[in-house]
Amino acid sequence: MAVSEIQSVPIGPHPDEPHPRGFNNRLNWLRAAVLGANDGIVSTAGIVIGAVGATGDRNAIMIAGVAGLAAGAMSMGAGEYVSVSTQRDSELALLAKERRELRDEPEAELAELAGLYAAKGLSDELALEVATALTEQDALAAHAEVELGIDPDDISSPVHAAWASMLSFTIGALLPLSTIILGSEALRVWLTVGVVVVALALTGWVSARLGYSSPGRALARNVAGGLFAMAVTYGIGAALGTQIG
Ligand SMILES: [Zn+2]
Repeated sequence: MAVSEIQSVPIGPHPDEPHPRGFNNRLNWLRAAVLGANDGIVSTAGIVIGAVGATGDRNAIMIAGVAGLAAGAMSMGAGEYVSVSTQRDSELALLAKERRELRDEPEAELAELAGLYAAKGLSDELALEVATALTEQDALAAHAEVELGIDPDDISSPVHAAWASMLSFTIGALLPLSTIILGSEALRVWLTVGVVVVALALTGWVSARLGYSSPGRALARNVAGGLFAMAVTYGIGAALGTQIG
């Protein structure tokens, strides 16, 4: 395309693909929230259905479900805290190293940045011009983006991530927990299975859309996984329940 043609379009994001600052990070959050909810649905459904297989006692079923919810939410939160903390530490260490290098050898760093742009296909002259302009504006951000793939203003917070996954797990877990507690004895299992199928279809569909893959398969896999988990725990509950009782 000739330069004059390009210039007839104003410079900016394509209207269908707005990529505002922090877009990727927000997408990661959404993905983590969907995964957390999915975990909450499957594990709690497995626990309460397993408990129903073992006993008809509503109180015992409720205690198992609530304990499972609390344990799962804390395990998710702790896991997320540790993993995001590790990522954050390594990102901050890399940024500190970059900052040191920019202070101690700014010329070598400019040459490095220009080299990275030249490697992307710009001529040496243009690469140096781009590198110089970006260095004048925000040298650290320029190096962080091209060298490290990090946005220095967008480092994830471990505490936020931990709360977000605890919360999403809890929301997911409340679905099977409430149907098993509130449903009548004759209907509660089927009510729970129905709600779990619908909820897993939704989380499967959303996570496929977030990953740009075909929603149909992801949805079917996700629902099948949940049904399998409930069937297995029901079987275990029934076997152990008759042995103990
Ligand atoms: Zn650098």
